[in-house]
Amino acid sequence: MRTLRLVTTLAVAGLLAGGAAAVAATPASAATAVFSVTNNWGNGYQGQVTVTNDTSAPISSWRVEFDLPSSSTITQSWNAQQTTSGSHYTFANVSWNGNLAAGASTSFGFLVNGTGTPLNCTVNGTGCAGGPPPTTPPPTTPPPTTPPPTTGTPVERHGQLRVCGTTMCDKSGARVQLRGISSMWLNWETAPYAENLSALRWMRDNWNLQVIRAAMGVEPAGAYLSDPAKARAQVETIINNAVTAGVYVIVDWHAHEAQNNQSQAVAFFGDLARRYGNLPNVIWEPYNEPLQVSWTTVIKPYHQAVVSAIRAADPDNIIVLGTPTWSQDVDVAAASPVTGTNLMYTLHFYSCTHGSSLRAKGDAAIRAGLALFVTEWGASNADGGLDGRACLPEAQSWIDWMKANGISWTAWKLDVGTDTTNLLSPGAPVTGGWTNYLHGHAPFVVANMR
Ligand code: MG
Repeated sequence: MRTLRLVTTLAVAGLLAGGAAAVAATPASAATAVFSVTNNWGNGYQGQVTVTNDTSAPISSWRVEFDLPSSSTITQSWNAQQTTSGSHYTFANVSWNGNLAAGASTSFGFLVNGTGTPLNCTVNGTGCAGGPPPTTPPPTTPPPTTPPPTTGTPVERHGQLRVCGTTMCDKSGARVQLRGISSMWLNWETAPYAENLSALRWMRDNWNLQVIRAAMGVEPAGAYLSDPAKARAQVETIINNAVTAGVYVIVDWHAHEAQNNQSQAVAFFGDLARRYGNLPNVIWEPYNEPLQVSWTTVIKPYHQAVVSAIRAADPDNIIVLGTPTWSQDVDVAAASPVTGTNLMYTLHFYSCTHGSSLRAKGDAAIRAGLALFVTEWGASNADGGLDGRACLPEAQSWIDWMKANGISWTAWKLDVGTDTTNLLSPGAPVTGGWTNYLHGHAPFVVANMR
């Protein structure tokens, strides 16, 4: 993450001192808004405004307004409702981020065509005060010369990815939310669905799949530690297919106690980074789901070792880091992030088990500045749906939350079986063409990929 916090605390004067009476026509106000530039290029930039409730009581809504020089226009925004009148921009909260407890913050973002930064600011109708007008730093990345194409493969469209603020941006600086599926534990696949190039192209063209996750089992008998040549060959087949098909691929060290085999993980990721780290397709995921062990003394040191091995050969591809309690405690990771660039953090959910309290952990992590990636989810119980039950309304709440926050995802899992999360039904050909073979939560997953 490269956050260049330029300017400025635009504090609303007087509210804490009872000055709210002067703005009696407006509700109790969020008291500060901070503008920052999170990315910039020759003729544009990505901006962010953080709204903080500095009052001593909760608030239920906020509204930020500012003007831009006429040479600059906002082309896209997220996490707020934007209305525009000439050069005057108004951003109101959306349904999920209007309520702010005392002291709490939320952010919204926008893309600007042009280099002009806000000339003024109000929060809930009261003039922001304090600090000089923002300025734009010298460009650090080349300007986009053409708008991103809408045709071509996902990797042709988006190219090299990077973390921007708390989400992911593509080669043009535009925010991108990748959606796709995870393989089964590769050591337990009933057929080599994930290794099939025809199937991958079919999912790309029929499901709008943009990313596939290669879940390379590590610890069970027959997985990487006991048969590394087989597991590595499966992963490299999936990487090479992804390059041919122009989709992104997550290389997942699918382990629950990876700290016990750190040297093998360091060697594996170091070697693959040397041979594949130059490709825009590859995303590294060094630790699927840690158990309930310490972030600071067990998981974080492991991540730092693997991140160092990857970065020795690949300076830039995104690395997604597993978090405690089967990749749920992203708030714990947020309190002590790993050092490095283009790092994201893993959040997994299963909607019959996990609901708003886990999303609150995600919200807390995002507020603290983390970028999240949901590398597994299911509309099922946390066991993957052994009982066959699906919980679609809660899964829809998760889908909406991921979309609102620009969180990329891969759904669990590409295989035939009776679990809710088995995407395919018996007889599904290994080469794709699965219109009549969708199983369990698959229709919901596919509908939300498109
Ligand atoms: Mg690279």
